[in-house]
Amino acid sequence: MTDTKRIAVLGAGGLGRNMAKLLDQKHELRLVAICDKGGYAFDPNGLKSNLIEALAADASVASIPQVGVACADAIGELLKRKDEIDGIFLALPNLPNEFLPSTVERLAKEGFQGVIVDALKRTRAVEMVVRLHDLLAASKITYITGAGATPGLLTAAAALAAQSFIEIESVEIYFGVGIANWDAYKATIREDVAHLEGFSVEKVAAMSDEEIEKELDKRNGILELVNMEHADDVILELAGIVSRDKVKVGGVVDTRSPKKPVSTTMRLTGITFEGKRSTHVFTLGDETSMAANVNGPALGWMKAGFWYHSKALYGVFTSAEVMPRWPK
Ligand code: NAD
Repeated sequence: MTDTKRIAVLGAGGLGRNMAKLLDQKHELRLVAICDKGGYAFDPNGLKSNLIEALAADASVASIPQVGVACADAIGELLKRKDEIDGIFLALPNLPNEFLPSTVERLAKEGFQGVIVDALKRTRAVEMVVRLHDLLAASKITYITGAGATPGLLTAAAALAAQSFIEIESVEIYFGVGIANWDAYKATIREDVAHLEGFSVEKVAAMSDEEIEKELDKRNGILELVNMEHADDVILELAGIVSRDKVKVGGVVDTRSPKKPVSTTMRLTGITFEGKRSTHVFTLGDETSMAANVNGPALGWMKAGFWYHSKALYGVFTSAEVMPRWPK
């Protein structure tokens, strides 16, 4: 990749703000736009993360001096400048399940022609995006779905690990996430609460912040998640590696400490061509944060997306089908 690609980040919460910091350190990719519910900031010369960091946690990027614009429909306003954007990272909440897929449809229908990467988590949401393949292909969009940590880094690790075997018996993903304060990642935590017994995406979407805080208090800030509806399953199934019922995802999220409560692992068990059963284990370093493990891979897939796009390969691809590249 020779020229610098211009990146827009939709969503300026925990992931979006950290993505701005990461992009500060990349010269092949330049952050030119970021938005949230209150508006957007756009600068074709590049937005540095210190502008965003200087904002109070609940302040909109619309209040960034000179480049911020307050508006009710930031995505629509940014789309008016679509010709100045090469790649989009979706760091929006996905509550309800249809929100992100319907946003993707909108990006295509309003004429964006570039690369889009998401960090979607729910199986049903990824299935909705996959169904947009024909529309996105016709719109000359290269889209990589499930390109965060799980799904994402760990799903791709499973796809790679599978190569040693002729039959895959199980894929078990168990993640540990530690964040100092749930406020910094409201959508992520809400979506995790939706996996607890007695909750649903619809129920959580209707709950106030105070109600979410009460649920966290009841659990001392710890969420233990089992048998989650996580898109690693459909992504590995679509790649032809293993049927979705053999993929299990769970984990522990501590919403009151940045220290990981458990190490994050992906364990793939299979049978080799000699008939031997064995397990490959991929473990993330405990010091790596959720932001590092989601945003780093997302940019790797963004770069891969630009390569695909340059070869006129359009439509929806998944994180188990495309090897991320390394953006400098
Ligand atoms: P967050 O709640 O911290 O921030 C969301 C941002 O989106 C906010 O800035 C909000 O103002 C903005 N927003 C909401 N509606 C908008 C609209 N209509 N127009 C413009 N902006 C709007 O979210 P987060 O915790 O950073 O999570 C973002 C997403 O990333 C979630 O969907 C989460 O599930 C996903 N995620 C994926 C992984 C993974 O490994 N795949 C890991 C963590 C988070």
